[in-house]
Amino acid sequence: MRKVALGVDIGGQSVKLGLVNTRGKILQESSFLTREFLGRKRFFKELKRSIEALLRASRRRNCRVTGIGIGAPGPIDVERGFVYFFPNIPGWRNTPLKSRLEKVFKMRVCVDNDANVMALAELRFGAGQGVQNLIALTLGTGIGGGLVVHGKLFHGPSFSAAEIGHVVIDERGKKCACGSHGCVETFVGTDYFVQEVKKRLRSGQKSILNQWLKSSGRCLTPQLVAKAARHGDSFSKKMWEETGAHLGTALAGLVNVFNPERIVLGGGIAQNGNLIFKPVVRTLRKKAFPIASRSVKVVRAALGVNAGVVGAAALLFENS
Ligand SMILES: [Zn+2]
Repeated sequence: MRKVALGVDIGGQSVKLGLVNTRGKILQESSFLTREFLGRKRFFKELKRSIEALLRASRRRNCRVTGIGIGAPGPIDVERGFVYFFPNIPGWRNTPLKSRLEKVFKMRVCVDNDANVMALAELRFGAGQGVQNLIALTLGTGIGGGLVVHGKLFHGPSFSAAEIGHVVIDERGKKCACGSHGCVETFVGTDYFVQEVKKRLRSGQKSILNQWLKSSGRCLTPQLVAKAARHGDSFSKKMWEETGAHLGTALAGLVNVFNPERIVLGGGIAQNGNLIFKPVVRTLRKKAFPIASRSVKVVRAALGVNAGVVGAAALLFENS
Protein backbone atom coordinates (compact mmCIF):
# COMPACT_ATOMS: atom_id res chain seq x y z
CA MET A 1 0.00 0.00 0.00
CA ARG A 2 1.38 3.38 -0.97
CA LYS A 3 1.66 5.96 1.79
CA VAL A 4 -0.03 9.31 1.11
CA ALA A 5 -1.21 12.32 3.13
CA LEU A 6 -4.19 14.52 2.49
CA GLY A 7 -3.08 18.14 2.10
CA VAL A 8 -5.52 21.05 2.51
CA ASP A 9 -4.61 24.60 1.52
CA ILE A 10 -7.12 27.11 2.94
CA GLY A 11 -6.75 30.36 1.02
CA GLY A 12 -8.62 33.64 0.91
CA GLN A 13 -10.48 32.74 -2.30
CA SER A 14 -10.52 28.96 -2.39
CA VAL A 15 -9.71 25.77 -0.53
CA LYS A 16 -7.55 23.28 -2.41
CA LEU A 17 -7.18 19.66 -1.39
CA GLY A 18 -4.98 16.85 -2.66
CA LEU A 19 -3.74 13.33 -2.04
CA VAL A 20 0.04 13.71 -1.94
CA ASN A 21 2.60 10.90 -2.00
CA THR A 22 5.89 10.89 -0.07
CA ARG A 23 7.72 12.27 -3.11
CA GLY A 24 5.52 15.38 -3.09
CA LYS A 25 3.43 14.39 -6.09
CA ILE A 26 -0.30 15.21 -6.08
CA LEU A 27 -2.18 12.05 -7.12
CA GLN A 28 -5.66 13.52 -7.05
CA GLU A 29 -7.00 16.98 -6.23
CA SER A 30 -10.16 18.98 -5.67
CA SER A 31 -11.16 22.47 -4.59
CA PHE A 32 -14.06 24.67 -3.52
CA LEU A 33 -14.56 28.41 -3.20
CA THR A 34 -14.21 30.16 0.14
CA ARG A 35 -17.25 32.37 -0.09
CA GLU A 36 -17.92 34.94 2.56
CA PHE A 37 -21.54 33.93 2.99
CA LEU A 38 -20.65 30.33 3.80
CA GLY A 39 -20.09 30.97 7.50
CA ARG A 40 -18.14 28.59 9.72
CA LYS A 41 -20.76 25.85 9.90
CA ARG A 42 -21.29 25.54 6.16
CA PHE A 43 -17.57 25.88 5.55
CA PHE A 44 -16.95 22.85 7.80
CA LYS A 45 -19.65 20.87 6.03
CA GLU A 46 -18.04 21.57 2.65
CA LEU A 47 -14.56 20.80 4.00
CA LYS A 48 -15.77 17.50 5.49
CA ARG A 49 -17.50 16.51 2.24
CA SER A 50 -14.37 17.26 0.17
CA ILE A 51 -12.10 15.32 2.55
CA GLU A 52 -14.47 12.33 2.53
CA ALA A 53 -14.44 12.28 -1.29
CA LEU A 54 -10.63 12.19 -1.37
CA LEU A 55 -10.50 9.48 1.32
CA ARG A 56 -12.80 7.35 -0.86
CA ALA A 57 -10.50 8.03 -3.82
CA SER A 58 -7.50 6.93 -1.74
CA ARG A 59 -9.15 3.56 -1.07
CA ARG A 60 -9.80 3.06 -4.80
CA ARG A 61 -6.15 3.84 -5.44
CA ASN A 62 -5.05 1.41 -2.74
CA CYS A 63 -3.29 4.14 -0.76
CA ARG A 64 -2.89 4.42 3.01
CA VAL A 65 -3.67 7.96 4.24
CA THR A 66 -1.38 8.79 7.18
CA GLY A 67 -3.35 11.89 8.15
CA ILE A 68 -4.60 15.32 7.17
CA GLY A 69 -2.28 18.33 6.92
CA ILE A 70 -3.72 21.84 6.78
CA GLY A 71 -2.19 25.17 5.84
CA ALA A 72 -4.27 28.19 6.88
CA PRO A 73 -3.67 31.94 6.93
CA GLY A 74 -2.88 34.04 9.97
CA PRO A 75 -1.62 33.15 13.42
CA ILE A 76 -2.05 29.51 14.39
CA ASP A 77 -1.40 27.58 17.58
CA VAL A 78 0.42 24.69 15.94
CA GLU A 79 0.36 22.45 19.02
CA ARG A 80 -3.39 22.66 19.63
CA GLY A 81 -4.29 23.24 15.98
CA PHE A 82 -6.12 26.47 16.72
CA VAL A 83 -6.79 28.84 13.84
CA TYR A 84 -7.30 32.17 15.60
CA PHE A 85 -8.63 34.34 12.86
CA PHE A 86 -9.72 34.06 9.26
CA PRO A 87 -11.04 37.27 7.68
CA ASN A 88 -13.11 35.70 4.90
CA ILE A 89 -15.23 33.42 7.05
CA PRO A 90 -17.53 35.02 9.62
CA GLY A 91 -17.54 33.36 13.01
CA TRP A 92 -14.17 31.71 12.44
CA ARG A 93 -12.50 33.07 15.57
CA ASN A 94 -10.47 30.64 17.69
CA THR A 95 -11.51 27.52 15.84
CA PRO A 96 -9.97 24.27 17.13
CA LEU A 97 -9.55 22.87 13.61
CA LYS A 98 -7.27 20.01 14.64
CA SER A 99 -9.44 18.45 17.36
CA ARG A 100 -12.66 18.89 15.33
CA LEU A 101 -11.26 17.08 12.31
CA GLU A 102 -9.50 14.41 14.39
CA LYS A 103 -12.83 13.62 16.04
CA VAL A 104 -14.61 13.28 12.69
CA PHE A 105 -11.98 11.38 10.72
CA LYS A 106 -10.20 9.44 13.51
CA MET A 107 -6.78 10.20 12.07
CA ARG A 108 -3.87 12.55 12.78
CA VAL A 109 -4.36 16.18 11.80
CA CYS A 110 -1.56 18.77 11.64
CA VAL A 111 -2.22 22.48 11.15
CA ASP A 112 0.28 25.21 10.36
CA ASN A 113 0.48 28.71 8.94
CA ASP A 114 0.37 28.89 5.11
CA ALA A 115 3.78 30.56 4.84
CA ASN A 116 5.39 27.84 6.99
CA VAL A 117 3.71 25.19 4.88
CA MET A 118 5.11 26.78 1.70
CA ALA A 119 8.60 26.81 3.27
CA LEU A 120 8.26 23.13 4.13
CA ALA A 121 7.10 22.25 0.61
CA GLU A 122 10.11 24.01 -0.92
CA LEU A 123 12.46 22.39 1.61
CA ARG A 124 11.26 18.86 0.99
CA PHE A 125 10.31 18.92 -2.69
CA GLY A 126 11.24 22.24 -4.30
CA ALA A 127 13.95 24.89 -4.45
CA GLY A 128 15.19 24.15 -0.93
CA GLN A 129 16.01 20.48 -1.38
CA GLY A 130 19.32 19.39 0.13
CA VAL A 131 19.69 22.19 2.68
CA GLN A 132 19.02 22.34 6.41
CA ASN A 133 18.67 26.09 6.97
CA LEU A 134 16.34 28.10 4.83
CA ILE A 135 14.25 31.26 4.69
CA ALA A 136 11.20 31.24 2.41
CA LEU A 137 9.15 34.30 1.53
CA THR A 138 5.86 34.65 -0.34
CA LEU A 139 5.71 38.11 -1.86
CA GLY A 140 2.11 39.21 -2.39
CA THR A 141 -0.23 41.80 -0.87
CA GLY A 142 1.27 40.69 2.40
CA ILE A 143 4.62 39.01 2.89
CA GLY A 144 4.53 35.53 4.38
CA GLY A 145 7.66 34.10 5.90
CA GLY A 146 8.82 30.62 6.85
CA LEU A 147 12.01 29.74 8.66
CA VAL A 148 13.72 26.34 8.66
CA VAL A 149 16.50 25.82 11.19
CA HIS A 150 18.43 22.52 11.29
CA GLY A 151 15.88 20.95 8.97
CA LYS A 152 12.83 21.88 11.08
CA LEU A 153 10.30 24.68 10.87
CA PHE A 154 11.03 27.24 13.57
CA HIS A 155 7.82 28.46 15.25
CA GLY A 156 8.91 30.11 18.48
CA PRO A 157 7.14 29.54 21.83
CA SER A 158 3.99 31.44 20.79
CA PHE A 159 4.13 30.25 17.16
CA SER A 160 4.67 33.74 15.78
CA ALA A 161 8.23 33.44 14.48
CA ALA A 162 9.23 34.25 10.89
CA GLU A 163 6.98 37.32 10.47
CA ILE A 164 9.64 38.55 8.08
CA GLY A 165 7.27 41.00 6.35
CA HIS A 166 7.19 42.94 9.61
CA VAL A 167 10.90 43.41 10.09
CA VAL A 168 11.31 47.20 10.38
CA ILE A 169 13.77 48.64 7.86
CA ASP A 170 12.83 52.32 8.27
CA GLU A 171 11.78 53.36 11.74
CA ARG A 172 10.30 56.58 10.43
CA GLY A 173 8.59 54.87 7.50
CA LYS A 174 4.94 54.47 6.53
CA LYS A 175 2.43 53.02 8.96
CA CYS A 176 2.00 49.28 8.44
CA ALA A 177 -1.19 47.24 8.86
CA CYS A 178 0.44 45.56 11.88
CA GLY A 179 0.57 48.91 13.70
CA SER A 180 4.31 49.45 13.37
CA HIS A 181 6.11 51.75 10.93
CA GLY A 182 8.45 51.08 8.00
CA CYS A 183 8.09 47.29 7.94
CA VAL A 184 9.52 45.60 4.85
CA GLU A 185 5.90 44.92 3.78
CA THR A 186 5.31 48.69 3.44
CA PHE A 187 7.97 48.72 0.70
CA VAL A 188 7.53 45.35 -0.98
CA GLY A 189 3.83 44.39 -0.44
CA THR A 190 1.96 44.82 -3.75
CA ASP A 191 -0.60 47.37 -2.47
CA TYR A 192 2.11 49.59 -1.00
CA PHE A 193 4.20 49.20 -4.17
CA VAL A 194 1.29 50.30 -6.39
CA GLN A 195 0.46 53.19 -4.02
CA GLU A 196 4.04 54.44 -4.19
CA VAL A 197 4.11 54.25 -8.02
CA LYS A 198 0.83 56.21 -8.18
CA LYS A 199 2.14 58.85 -5.79
CA ARG A 200 5.30 59.36 -7.82
CA LEU A 201 3.41 59.54 -11.13
CA ARG A 202 1.01 62.10 -9.65
CA SER A 203 3.96 64.22 -8.57
CA GLY A 204 4.84 64.59 -12.24
CA GLN A 205 7.61 62.03 -12.73
CA LYS A 206 8.03 60.96 -16.35
CA SER A 207 7.23 57.39 -17.29
CA ILE A 208 5.78 55.42 -20.16
CA LEU A 209 3.21 54.27 -17.58
CA ASN A 210 1.50 57.67 -17.84
CA GLN A 211 0.74 57.06 -21.54
CA TRP A 212 -0.21 53.41 -21.04
CA LEU A 213 -2.62 54.19 -18.23
CA LYS A 214 -4.22 57.07 -20.12
CA SER A 215 -4.59 55.40 -23.50
CA SER A 216 -5.65 51.87 -22.64
CA GLY A 217 -7.46 52.28 -19.34
CA ARG A 218 -5.23 49.56 -17.95
CA CYS A 219 -4.96 48.98 -14.23
CA LEU A 220 -1.73 49.82 -12.48
CA THR A 221 -0.21 46.56 -11.22
CA PRO A 222 3.32 45.41 -10.37
CA GLN A 223 3.18 43.36 -13.60
CA LEU A 224 2.56 46.52 -15.65
CA VAL A 225 5.48 48.26 -13.93
CA ALA A 226 7.61 45.20 -14.73
CA LYS A 227 6.53 45.36 -18.38
CA ALA A 228 7.45 49.05 -18.53
CA ALA A 229 10.85 48.31 -16.96
CA ARG A 230 11.53 45.65 -19.59
CA HIS A 231 10.57 48.27 -22.20
CA GLY A 232 13.45 50.37 -20.90
CA ASP A 233 11.37 52.85 -18.85
CA SER A 234 13.84 54.31 -16.33
CA PHE A 235 11.16 55.28 -13.80
CA SER A 236 9.93 51.67 -13.63
CA LYS A 237 13.47 50.25 -13.54
CA LYS A 238 14.19 52.52 -10.57
CA MET A 239 11.02 51.33 -8.79
CA TRP A 240 12.20 47.72 -9.04
CA GLU A 241 15.76 48.65 -8.07
CA GLU A 242 14.49 50.32 -4.91
CA THR A 243 12.02 47.57 -4.05
CA GLY A 244 14.71 44.91 -4.48
CA ALA A 245 17.14 46.95 -2.38
CA HIS A 246 14.59 47.25 0.46
CA LEU A 247 13.98 43.52 0.44
CA GLY A 248 17.73 42.88 0.21
CA THR A 249 18.29 45.07 3.29
CA ALA A 250 15.81 43.03 5.33
CA LEU A 251 17.33 39.77 4.08
CA ALA A 252 20.86 40.97 4.89
CA GLY A 253 19.78 41.38 8.51
CA LEU A 254 18.26 37.91 8.56
CA VAL A 255 21.33 36.39 6.94
CA ASN A 256 23.46 37.90 9.70
CA VAL A 257 21.17 36.38 12.34
CA PHE A 258 20.44 32.95 10.88
CA ASN A 259 23.26 32.23 8.40
CA PRO A 260 20.88 30.32 6.07
CA GLU A 261 22.08 28.29 3.10
CA ARG A 262 19.18 29.28 0.90
CA ILE A 263 16.53 31.98 0.52
CA VAL A 264 13.49 31.00 -1.54
CA LEU A 265 11.29 33.76 -2.96
CA GLY A 266 7.79 32.98 -4.24
CA GLY A 267 4.53 34.83 -5.01
CA GLY A 268 3.57 37.38 -7.67
CA ILE A 269 6.47 39.82 -7.21
CA ALA A 270 9.06 37.02 -7.46
CA GLN A 271 7.75 36.18 -10.95
CA ASN A 272 9.54 39.27 -12.25
CA GLY A 273 12.91 37.51 -12.40
CA ASN A 274 16.03 39.64 -12.54
CA LEU A 275 14.12 42.89 -12.05
CA ILE A 276 13.72 41.92 -8.40
CA PHE A 277 16.39 39.23 -7.88
CA LYS A 278 19.37 41.32 -9.08
CA PRO A 279 18.93 44.24 -6.67
CA VAL A 280 18.01 41.81 -3.85
CA VAL A 281 21.24 39.85 -4.28
CA ARG A 282 23.37 42.95 -4.87
CA THR A 283 22.12 44.56 -1.64
CA LEU A 284 22.43 41.34 0.31
CA ARG A 285 26.06 40.91 -0.74
CA LYS A 286 26.78 44.52 0.15
CA LYS A 287 25.05 44.61 3.53
CA ALA A 288 25.41 41.15 5.09
CA PHE A 289 28.62 39.79 6.61
CA PRO A 290 30.75 38.50 3.71
CA ILE A 291 31.21 35.04 5.21
CA ALA A 292 27.41 34.61 5.59
CA SER A 293 26.41 36.28 2.32
CA ARG A 294 28.84 34.15 0.28
CA SER A 295 27.27 30.94 1.51
CA VAL A 296 23.61 31.84 0.81
CA LYS A 297 21.86 31.34 -2.51
CA VAL A 298 18.72 33.33 -3.39
CA VAL A 299 16.43 31.30 -5.64
CA ARG A 300 12.90 31.37 -7.02
CA ALA A 301 10.27 29.06 -5.49
CA ALA A 302 9.80 25.94 -7.59
CA LEU A 303 6.36 24.67 -6.61
CA GLY A 304 4.06 27.58 -7.50
CA VAL A 305 0.35 27.16 -6.81
CA ASN A 306 0.77 23.59 -5.55
CA ALA A 307 3.10 24.54 -2.69
CA GLY A 308 0.18 24.92 -0.24
CA VAL A 309 -1.31 21.44 -0.74
CA VAL A 310 2.07 19.68 -0.99
CA GLY A 311 3.48 21.47 2.08
CA ALA A 312 0.35 20.80 4.14
CA ALA A 313 0.68 17.08 3.35
CA ALA A 314 4.40 17.25 4.18
CA LEU A 315 3.46 18.23 7.77
CA LEU A 316 2.45 14.57 8.18
CA PHE A 317 5.61 13.18 6.61
CA GLU A 318 7.68 15.39 8.95
CA ASN A 319 6.38 13.77 12.08
CA SER A 320 5.61 10.21 11.06
ZN1 LIG B 1 4.20 45.56 9.82
